[in-house]
Amino acid sequence: MNEYKLLTPGPLTTSKKVKEQMLFDRCTWDDEYKAITQKIRKQLLEIAGASEETYTSVLMQGSGSFGVESILNSVINKGDKLLIVCNGAYGERIITMAKYIGIDYVNYHTEYDKIFEIDEIKDILNKDKSITHIVMVHCETTTGILNPIEDIAKISKEYGKILIIDAMSSFGGIPIDVQKLSIDYLISSANKCIQGVPGFCFVIARREKLLKCEGNSKSLCLDLYDQWKYMDNDGKWRFTSPTHVVAAFSKAIDELIEEGGVLARNERYKNNNFILRKMLKYMGFEPYIRENLQSPIITTFRFPNLEFDFNDFYNYVKKRGYVLYPGKLTETDTFRIGNIGEIYEEDIKKLCGIIGDYMGGKKS
Ligand SMILES: *Cc1c(COP(=O)(O)O)cnc(C)c1O
Repeated sequence: MNEYKLLTPGPLTTSKKVKEQMLFDRCTWDDEYKAITQKIRKQLLEIAGASEETYTSVLMQGSGSFGVESILNSVINKGDKLLIVCNGAYGERIITMAKYIGIDYVNYHTEYDKIFEIDEIKDILNKDKSITHIVMVHCETTTGILNPIEDIAKISKEYGKILIIDAMSSFGGIPIDVQKLSIDYLISSANKCIQGVPGFCFVIARREKLLKCEGNSKSLCLDLYDQWKYMDNDGKWRFTSPTHVVAAFSKAIDELIEEGGVLARNERYKNNNFILRKMLKYMGFEPYIRENLQSPIITTFRFPNLEFDFNDFYNYVKKRGYVLYPGKLTETDTFRIGNIGEIYEEDIKKLCGIIGDYMGGKKS
């Protein structure tokens, strides 16, 4: 197999040192291992700008969706009602989860290249007083659109709702001040902007709210409250923890701090994304999302012409060391390029050179 770098939004390209942490087998109940878990939990709060008095963090086995479902399943009770603000496939997944769990919900929908209207959200909340919780995806990885987290946080606070943010593909790569925004639950996973490998997700939760969730869960494995209580004792995970992934993640956080924290990482991602969009536009690729709504995480591009064969293009680029991502839209022909992970300006320029060659007619 030829080696390649991932330009996908998780799993993504990780550093050699992050991968090297997985060469040693660690013991789950050993004090040194438990200390890694506790250190990670503390560092995540720091990254989120959340104080330990007001917030706590919980790590949960499984991919990001397991974490989203654990929140929905553990914090929303009978008699509660959830407003789902949806403009992409991850918002749709939340709707599917709500159906499975049997949550009473309202779906506020916009087209995938648009964001919500503040007045429309307020109108829904004014008319339906039974809504207790609001959930929204921050960066909709489906398209790369960045939803205005500040606006939804402001409305949620004004109306006294419990706010859940799926910041899966933005946390660590875009500054989010959880405490200042008064977010109640924020979820992300190991294999996105913190640049770890896949295997667990994590929730930043407001203590006061999570404390009230005892006994809510209809699932044993996805009981966020139980997971928290168990882990909070001394850092031991309830059920087998993904030891290799946790060790790699701890290294990934150290590297985030070494890079200069979220602000510095955000600058690198923004620069990657800016160069990518500029050079691809020059080659005839139009982004699907308007520039002012575009995240610095992943970009959706329209096919440049009717003859464009994505599979052929994908294989050409892969052979030369980079893996792209198919589109996730049904009605428009698109593909996606992620620019997060151990990806630097040199990579983006190299990629654009490869794409330029392909577009120039070099096809094998
Ligand atoms: C990656 C991602 C998820 C979780 O997806 P998994 O496949 O379960 O890891 C959820 N929401 C968003 C916005 C994501 O980018």
